[in-house]
Formats: sequence, C-alpha cells, structure tokens
Amino acid sequence: MLKLGVHVSIAGGIHKSIDRAFSLGCNTMQIFARNPRRFRKGFLCKEDIENFRKKVKASAIKPVVIHAPYTLNLAASKKFLHWITIKEFILDLVEADKIGAQYLVTHTGSHKGVSEDKGLKKVVKAFKKILKTTESLKTRILIENTSGTKNQLGYTFSHYRFILKELDFTPKLGVCLDTAHTWSAGYEINRKEGLDDFLKMVDKTVGIKRVKVIHLNDTREELGSGKDRHCHIGEGKIGINGFALIVNHPLLKKLPFILETPRDEKTDDLRNLAIIRRLYQDEL
Ligand SMILES: [Zn+2]
Repeated sequence: MLKLGVHVSIAGGIHKSIDRAFSLGCNTMQIFARNPRRFRKGFLCKEDIENFRKKVKASAIKPVVIHAPYTLNLAASKKFLHWITIKEFILDLVEADKIGAQYLVTHTGSHKGVSEDKGLKKVVKAFKKILKTTESLKTRILIENTSGTKNQLGYTFSHYRFILKELDFTPKLGVCLDTAHTWSAGYEINRKEGLDDFLKMVDKTVGIKRVKVIHLNDTREELGSGKDRHCHIGEGKIGINGFALIVNHPLLKKLPFILETPRDEKTDDLRNLAIIRRLYQDEL
C-alpha cells in the first residue's frame, strides 16, 4: 500500500498539522516541530502533546516525521554553535519522542570552508553525544542526503559510511533519501539503470535497510549541479517517468514517501499527491 504524505505547516498549533495532512488524504506526514529558522524558544505543553497524539491515533497517520531546524549544524567548527546544536538536537529528539514521531530527519551539516574531514569528525562527535544521551528514546534519527551545495556534507555516501563506521554502525541512525538532492548530487535516478546503480551503491555503503523515508521532489537543476531547489512533480529533470520508476522500485515502494514540493497555489499539494497516486502500482 502506498504510504504518501507531504510536509505540512504547524501554524495555529502543532495538532493542526494532522488536520492538514488528513484533509489531503495523507497517511504519513512531515513537519517542523518548531520555527526552523530560530533557536528554541519554548517547549510544547502537555495539552499540545496529548492533543497531537490523540489526533495521530485517530487519523492513523504513520510514520510522523519531524524535520530538524535549519539553525542546527552538526558539523559546526565554532565551539558555541556545535555545543548549542547538540543541546538543541537532544531537546528536539526528546520532544519528537514525546509526540510519538517515528523519525527526526536532519541534514549532515556544513563545514563552512574548514574541511570535509574536520566537518565529518564534528558530526561524529555530535552524534556520539546525542545518541548516548537519548538511548532510551524510540524516535530514530535519519540523516538526509544533500545536493552538495558549497561546504555541505552528505552529498556522497562515503560521508555516511565514515560517520556510521565511527559509530559502530549503530541501528539508531537511519537514512532519508531526497530525490532532488540525489539528482543534483549527480545520480541519474530518472533512468532504470541509474536508479539501480544508485541503490546498489547505497546498499554497499550504508545498507539499504537503513533507508527509512524518501523525500519526493523534482528539480529543474542540472544533474550534478549541487544546487538544491525543489519543483513540482513532473515539472523538473526527474520527470514523470523518473518518479514512476522511483515509487515502484521494489526496494523503495514500501517506504513512506513525503513531498516537499513548492506551495505556490492552494491546490499544489493535491495536484502533486495525485500524480504520485496515479503513478503508484499497488501490488495485487
Ligand atoms: Zn528533503
């Protein structure tokens, strides 16, 4: 069965996000649990948490995915920024667990021109601390692959391999694949052969079982451009045929798919969701 959702807003209260996802016919969804461009200001109250959990249960939306804020940088070389990232990441994970979210998706971070090597070591250091402090929590961290914009880590799977190896291949760390980022990082996933090769490489470096969520986004950027800009499904380089291959691939089709496509018009989400539903072939 197709597991399909969209990134929805929490405007008006975090529980409102479930109403939004439900009214779009989603059976999974993603949210920012707080303002993604600011450091944490407060905490969800007990009522918010209970309300959210109740609605999730009633709507049968699962998994609930939280996207970590942009202010966090696991690879930060500046001491204060690295420290506050770890501190806030732990609080975000605790809160994600409280509201019953299955996953917290994060980007790998930016080394800001220092060096990939040093940046990756910072990421490992951060995860060691985070995982040690949050051992008892159920919410799982997923690192999302990136397009490879300047100084950004995580555009190549050798980065994940390095991080995981340093963490003894902990099962607590999973992977989220973003189709637009994958394309911009140079993987031709809109062709059968290209998609197969990419998934083989993922399996070899991190293990395909580690992939828990797929972000479905199209992009107009060139293959390998390193540019991260999403567009509507079918209007970019991945195209309708590419998405037909992706959502029906035997290694991917049982995973939750989440759209992070633009919302210029009110009907955009419904249209993008409808395209994916049309492309998806249910197993008989
Ligand atoms: Zn994404």
